Amino acid sequence: MAAQHATGAIGRIARHVNGERLWNRLMALAKFGALPNGGVNRQALSDEEISARVQIVRWAHAIGLEASTDPVANLFLRFGGADASLPPVLIGSHIDSQPTGGKFDGAFGVLAPLESIEAIAASGMRPRRTIDVVAWMYEEGSRYAPGMMGSAVYSGARKIEDILSVRDKAGISVESELKKVLSAEPRLPQRQLGAKPAAFLEAHIEQGPILQNEKKTIGIVTGIQGKRTFRIQVDGEENHAGTAPRSVRRDPLVSAVNIVHALQEKMWDREDIVRFTIGMFNVSPNAPSVVPARVIFSIDLRHPDTRQLRDLGDRIEPICKRAALKCDVTVTELLHDPPLEFPSGLRGRLTQISEALGIPHMDISSGAGHDARYLHYICPTAMIFIPCKDGISHNEAESATKEDIAAGARVLAEAAFATANAD
Ligand SMILES: [Zn+2]
Repeated sequence: MAAQHATGAIGRIARHVNGERLWNRLMALAKFGALPNGGVNRQALSDEEISARVQIVRWAHAIGLEASTDPVANLFLRFGGADASLPPVLIGSHIDSQPTGGKFDGAFGVLAPLESIEAIAASGMRPRRTIDVVAWMYEEGSRYAPGMMGSAVYSGARKIEDILSVRDKAGISVESELKKVLSAEPRLPQRQLGAKPAAFLEAHIEQGPILQNEKKTIGIVTGIQGKRTFRIQVDGEENHAGTAPRSVRRDPLVSAVNIVHALQEKMWDREDIVRFTIGMFNVSPNAPSVVPARVIFSIDLRHPDTRQLRDLGDRIEPICKRAALKCDVTVTELLHDPPLEFPSGLRGRLTQISEALGIPHMDISSGAGHDARYLHYICPTAMIFIPCKDGISHNEAESATKEDIAAGARVLAEAAFATANAD
């Protein structure tokens, strides 16, 4: 691993990273979908995202990169390596945001790679492998369920046919929105799905407070905790609030509250490692004088340990059934992503680079999911985190410093070059 990148050579790329240029691009990108309190609303496949893509392609063309897309609108910016026969190294993240998201989630992970390419080009050295900067389509999971569509399809974890028919709340399908995006970029060549990269590197803000608390600039991500999601449907009987005696009602809201209470109690762990969230709760018909007919709610369960995640998740259905009172309950599992650990070789390289650049670093586990999960299934994958202020993310107040952003780009630039040259 160190052959092409002896510790003494580290820094020859990083010193060409221009933190000011990277910061200015981040601020320029944040204008697409800008919100009044400093955040962005740049949801996947929206007009704002289309405009942001145009800007990114313009920057890429200006530095001589070749832009292309694929059938799911992943965006690639190619920096050709010396040996075009070798599979490329991918570096990237996403540019879509939550409806009230921040400027850095995802965007840092696309623009730091662009800056890395600038730095490699300015060093005068050419990597052996091609390096592709990538912006994966639809990471956030806010508009369609579930998220990470672009990376999931690219990696083969999901079939393209399965995502095309997915609709948002307004009934608009992924298929029609994809057509809109791709037809807005008629001059970009389209590449096939299914090409296997040599490696994937993703840089991201931490979205938690650990790096700030530990006073470290770089988090070398050890892995991503596992996640299971469920849809719980409780069916009762719609009735008149004034006439139906309570003793005979089959009220799904009463049952759902009882279920939620039971779940909260059973999913509690003293160590506080289990992440259990009910983030969506729908009552229908949701009218003040009607005993509801149906309640649907979501469960998001996460744990870093494979067995614990499996055991806890498997208990959800029996707990729901036992606590359902007089109503019927249907539990549907939507997703089961086991915990994963990134390979030690790439993590070691990131540690070595941070060390050589004199940037304070630590190992860190990711509580949030990332596109890196799906790339991990098909190629050696690694991630770095940089701090974000007070760990706040998915919020307009999300903030990161110019210095930390530049440091992240320096580590990424060295890592991308070293990985592109590694055996
Ligand atoms: Zn993100």
